[in-house]
Amino acid sequence: MRQLEERIIADGKMLPGGVLKVGSFLNHCIDTKLLGDMAAEIASLYKDAGVTKILTIEASGIAIAAAAGMALGVPAVFAKKHRTTNVEGSVYMTIIHSFTHNEDYHVIVQRDCLDASDKILIIDDFLANGSALRGLIDLVTQSGAEVAGVAVCVEKCFQPGGDEFRAKGIRVDALASIESMTDDGQITFRS
Ligand code: 5GP
Repeated sequence: MRQLEERIIADGKMLPGGVLKVGSFLNHCIDTKLLGDMAAEIASLYKDAGVTKILTIEASGIAIAAAAGMALGVPAVFAKKHRTTNVEGSVYMTIIHSFTHNEDYHVIVQRDCLDASDKILIIDDFLANGSALRGLIDLVTQSGAEVAGVAVCVEKCFQPGGDEFRAKGIRVDALASIESMTDDGQITFRS
């Protein structure tokens, strides 16, 4: 999506360790026009996929998941991060390693938020090593629902997550696919 690529070049900041900071428009301050356009793009990609629900993880996936849910006319659910195993009630739980905080989180979804009959579109802001995605797929699998596909705003293709899941036959779409980026600010997109 050219609009997102141009915005990454204009306002993205490269941090050491392959982290792209996009807090000025994507996941802290949110450019709501861009958010709506990204949601419309995801909706057009998945309009015929029979999606009944969207699943993301807090916090930075929530905005794009909710916007895409509005565009597709389906509910959006977000998995919650817990630092302890001490969660009560009827939940699905998995463990996700946070790329940006280098920490493991227990992640939960209330069982009644996902149904075995659901066809789930998983959405996140970034796809890097695939830990968040692995955990979200695990939650969907536990519920008996089906994964319709995965849509992310930004895939960092120099990290293995996206290709790992494509190799498993899972549909993965990225609105901007970064082939490479250097600490001095050079970004190349996958065409
Ligand atoms: P993964 O689990 O695929 O390694 O990383 C995906 C998660 O880590 C996303 O939920 C996202 O919030 C965060 N993340 C990964 N890489 C970046 C990055 O370069 N910039 C930002 N802002 N977040 C990232």
